Amino acid sequence: MPANPASPAALKRRATGVLARLGEAYPDARTELEYRNPFELLIATVLSAQATDRSVNAATPALFAAYPDARSMSAAPVEHVETLIRTIGLYRNKARNLVALSGLLIERHGGEVPNSFDAVVALPGAGRKTANVVLSNAYGYAAIAVDTHVGRLARRLGFSAHTNPDKVELDLQRFFPREKWVFLHHALILHGRRICLARTPQCSACTLLSLCPRLGVERSS
Ligand code: SF4
Repeated sequence: MPANPASPAALKRRATGVLARLGEAYPDARTELEYRNPFELLIATVLSAQATDRSVNAATPALFAAYPDARSMSAAPVEHVETLIRTIGLYRNKARNLVALSGLLIERHGGEVPNSFDAVVALPGAGRKTANVVLSNAYGYAAIAVDTHVGRLARRLGFSAHTNPDKVELDLQRFFPREKWVFLHHALILHGRRICLARTPQCSACTLLSLCPRLGVERSS
């Protein structure tokens, strides 16, 4: 990937423009995962790793009907959880993690999803991205969860040269105001799904085109 030539001041100006245009394009950007409480959000987010939100949303109603809280899920037979989520990628691992993390919620947090980054990250199947999604959506924390879409757009837009999500997160935090982090996360995901596609970004239809150096883009429509 070519080096990004923009100065920090230029990148901050670019960030302001990107936010304004994303705000117009996605005024109601929010997670597409369906959930009714922090526990369901945590479970849905763990399930969404390397899977589409649509596949998660299709499976979770039956899962939550059978196991509505940490206590019931901690006692669930892993094989039954597997059956309920088998349409989702990596379902065997995820079923084990759901039962184990529910057990830890009971053991350490009274069955509640903890309001603490370190405590969520320590749960089986929950990494930094999961913690950011859960804490920002359920508890209003300022956070930028970096998934494949956010990382790709951050690099194409010149805000980060890193592939490591933790480093991308730090780069984005430098250029975007804290109060916009959660919106930015959701808007970049929507833009990555609809316009800035992984293989062939639709640059000619992109609202960010005049702001975007398109770093690393070899082919677009
Ligand atoms: S101009 Fe192209 S590379 Fe840049 S954000 Fe838009 S679709 Fe992605």
